[in-house]
Amino acid sequence: MAQFQDLNLNTPLYNALDDLGFTTPTPIQEQAFNVVSSGKDVVGIAQTGTGKTFAYMLPILRNLKFSMQENPRVLVLVPTRELVVQVVDEIEKLSKYINNRVLGVYGGTNINTQKQAIAQGIDILVATPGRLYDLALSRVLQLKSIQKLVIDEVDVMLDLGFRHQLINIFDILPERRQNIMFSATMTQDVDLLINDFFKTPERVSIAISGTPLENINQTRYDVPNFYTKVNLLTHLLRDEDTYNKVLIFVAFKRMADRLFEQLDEFFKEELCVIHSNKTQNYRLRSIEQFREGQNRILIATDVMARGLDIDNVSHVINFDTPEYPENYMHRIGRTGRAERLGEALVFSTKNEQESIENIEALMKMEIPLLEIPEDVQISTELIEEERPQIKERNNPTKRKDEDAPGPAFHDKSEKNSKENLGGSYKFKIAAKYKKPKTRGDKNYNKRNKKK
Ligand code: AMP
Repeated sequence: MAQFQDLNLNTPLYNALDDLGFTTPTPIQEQAFNVVSSGKDVVGIAQTGTGKTFAYMLPILRNLKFSMQENPRVLVLVPTRELVVQVVDEIEKLSKYINNRVLGVYGGTNINTQKQAIAQGIDILVATPGRLYDLALSRVLQLKSIQKLVIDEVDVMLDLGFRHQLINIFDILPERRQNIMFSATMTQDVDLLINDFFKTPERVSIAISGTPLENINQTRYDVPNFYTKVNLLTHLLRDEDTYNKVLIFVAFKRMADRLFEQLDEFFKEELCVIHSNKTQNYRLRSIEQFREGQNRILIATDVMARGLDIDNVSHVINFDTPEYPENYMHRIGRTGRAERLGEALVFSTKNEQESIENIEALMKMEIPLLEIPEDVQISTELIEEERPQIKERNNPTKRKDEDAPGPAFHDKSEKNSKENLGGSYKFKIAAKYKKPKTRGDKNYNKRNKKK
């Protein structure tokens, strides 16, 4: 295993690392060092806890020369004030024997105090995007000397809706600069940002182990569309004894809400959802209720489920098939922990078959395919994103819909555009399980009278 001595650091950094008691670089630190030092744009995929902060700060501090100038040369953008504090703290630990000036700024606090601190001169600025932009507009902060831009936790940042703020900031930064980006998960949003603003970036990631834990039993279903997925899921979740702690993953918050609405009818008391449009309190409460077993089912997006530490998850259900195989590995790793046997299921439409192939290629194994049980209704109703897309011309500003899972793979017929078969299945299930009829169920009596 490599030691810090194998990296081309300098005495002040070695001394600081010694004081911290760190001798061995983490895998992401080892991999990122030369790439970040090279000055090329870099995209690093690493989760919190992997040592990612030092992965970009070690090479940056190694190469940052002493300077008397007042304007910052390194800008680190992070999504939350907590992270500003944490990153500043980490940089200060590493800078113990280096003469540099580090400052953290974030919104919700007095901007004038921050302006005064900036005026005294800084080398490294750590900031949340909103406050950074305000400070730059006020002209107290000059960004013309920025040589290195680090964006940390890009996935969270985009998920919180900071894309436009980031673009505004890119606009006022010098064009000649190194971009370094770290993200825990790859998402379509992250990909889009990279393609639009990065110059052929080098990618570094800890080689995600394609070897799934042995105590996770994986199976998959081929399912034609969203509503059939809902029907299959409802069918499975009815078995409360088997499916006793279920984490359901979806890629987008809109899909999380949509699925929540569908499941709410049957599993109201046992269901919760987390994604970035929910308040922090709501999310914490949901996670706690799921952890404690008050709620049996939790729906989560990839970004929000990062760092979720929950034991005894009986099933991870991939309601969609992750486009990035790494995300699949992260998702299923939430079950089968602490020596217990876990189950992972994945639902795939025809459109998602390529993703399944990529996942299987990464794991070097096939996921056993199960037949959809006979009493699961196959719906022909399609959600908006599954319908054939009409190409819009002359609209160059319209960007790819970040919430869309992709174009539909089969045509919607005249007939099924009028008939809601997904709904009718709900009635069937409701009758089967003697659910009281629901408020919206206007046709229930009519239909039953006919029989
Ligand atoms: P991060 O992933 O950057 O949030 O770092 C997680 C924690 O690991 C922080 O508390 C770091 O101080 C610590 N850490 C970073 N690099 C190392 C290392 N090479 N050896 C031991 N601990 C480390």
